[in-house]
Amino acid sequence: MRFEDEPVTPGDPLPILPGHSSFGRLERVLRAGGFAVTAEIAPPDSANPADVYERAALFDGCVDAMNATDGSGANCHMSSIGMCSLLARRGYAMVMQISARDRNRIAIQGDVLGAAAMGVASILCLTGDGVDVGDHPQAKPVFDLDSMSMLGMIRAMRDESRFLSGRELSEAPHVFLGAAANPFAPPLDYRPHRLAKKVAAGAQFVQTQYCFDIAAFRRYMAAVRDAGTHEKVFILAGVGPLASVRSAEWIRANVPGVHIPDAVIARLRGARDQRREGVRLCVDLIRQIREIEGVHGVHIMAYRQERRVAEIVEESGVLGGRKPWRPAVDWTDADWDQGSAAPPLRPGMRQLEQAS
Ligand SMILES: Cc1cc2nc3c(=O)[nH]c(=O)nc-3n(C[C@H](O)[C@H](O)[C@H](O)COP(=O)(O)OP(=O)(O)OC[C@H]3O[C@@H](n4cnc5c(N)ncnc54)[C@H](O)[C@@H]3O)c2cc1C
Repeated sequence: MRFEDEPVTPGDPLPILPGHSSFGRLERVLRAGGFAVTAEIAPPDSANPADVYERAALFDGCVDAMNATDGSGANCHMSSIGMCSLLARRGYAMVMQISARDRNRIAIQGDVLGAAAMGVASILCLTGDGVDVGDHPQAKPVFDLDSMSMLGMIRAMRDESRFLSGRELSEAPHVFLGAAANPFAPPLDYRPHRLAKKVAAGAQFVQTQYCFDIAAFRRYMAAVRDAGTHEKVFILAGVGPLASVRSAEWIRANVPGVHIPDAVIARLRGARDQRREGVRLCVDLIRQIREIEGVHGVHIMAYRQERRVAEIVEESGVLGGRKPWRPAVDWTDADWDQGSAAPPLRPGMRQLEQAS
C-alpha cells in the first residue's frame, strides 16, 4: 500500500481488496453479496457547506452510499464534484454523477482525477438531460461524449492509466464505474440490450429509473437474466416515495422515461393520507424488488422527501439487519470482519470529527 507508513488523512484510499476496482464501501458491500441501499442527495442552491452536511446526515446509518446528482433535470445546483469532495472528506461513500451535457472530455478527465484524489470511489456516467428541459434553456449543450464513451474513457484511465489522448497518468483513479438504466423507456425490447452495451463499455453497476411497474420490471429482469447480464453488473433498482396524486401525475407527465401505472395513481387517490401511502407504496415495492433474481440493491430517490428515507429503509427491512457505516460510529476491524459491511474508520477521519 502506497500510504502504509504515512498518516492517513480523509480522502486517502482504504486498501483495495483483491478483485475490486476501488476502495469504496459501495463496491465492498456489493461484492460481499450484500443487498445495497443507495440514496440520491440533492445538491443545494447554496455555497454553504453546512447545507450539504445537514442533507447527508439524514442518511446516516441507513444507506451504503449517496449519489450527488449533476445538474439533474438540467437545472443548476451545487456541483456533484463539490458535494462529493465535501462529503468524502468526512468519510461518506459518494457516487459522483457526471453528465456529458455540461463538460467536454478535457474537463471530465480532470474532474475524475480530482474527485479520486479527494476520496470519491464511485462514478455514475450519464449522457444527461437536455438543456431544453431545465432552468437555463439558453445554455450551450456540450455532449462531447455520451454515457458509453464516458464509461470507456474512465475505464481506460483506471485500467490502462492513460488519458484519452494516450498520455500516461502517474497514478490511476481507482473508481467503481456505473451508469443509469431505464427499463421502462420504449422500445422496451431494446432496454436489456442497451444495458448490456453499457456493461460492455465499462459499467460495473447500474442504477435504474424509478420502478413503479413491478410487472414490467420483472419482464425486463427476465430478459436481463436470459442474456446473463445480471452476472456481469450489479443492478440497483430505482425507487422513491410519491408525495401525492398531484405530484405523481406531474412526474408522469413531465419526467421523461418515468412510468407510473394507473393502479399506483388509484392507490394514492384512495388514501386518506397520501404522503403516508406514498411511503407504504415505496416499502411494498422494495420488498417485491428484493425478491427479484439478479437485483443487487435499491437506489432511493426521494426528492424533497429525504427525511422519509430512514423510515423507508427501516420499514422495508431492506438491510436485513446489516448496519451501513456512518461517520459518527467508531467501527473496528472486527465489525468489518463480522460482515457488517462497514470498513474501519480511518485515523484521519477520527481527527476530522474531533475537530468539527
Ligand atoms: C439514476 C438516474 C440518475 C440520473 N441523474 C441525472 C443527473 O444527475 N443529471 C442529469 O442531467 N440527468 C440525470 N438523469 C437523467 C438521465 O440522464 C436521462 O434520463 C437520460 O435521458 C437517460 O440516461 P443516460 O444519461 O444514461 O443516457 P443514455 O442511456 O446514454 O441515453 C442517451 C440517449 O438515449 C436517449 N434516451 C435515453 N433514455 C431515454 C428515454 N427515457 N426516453 C427517450 N430517449 C431516451 C437520449 O435521448 C439520448 O439520446 C438520471 C437518470 C437516472 C435513471
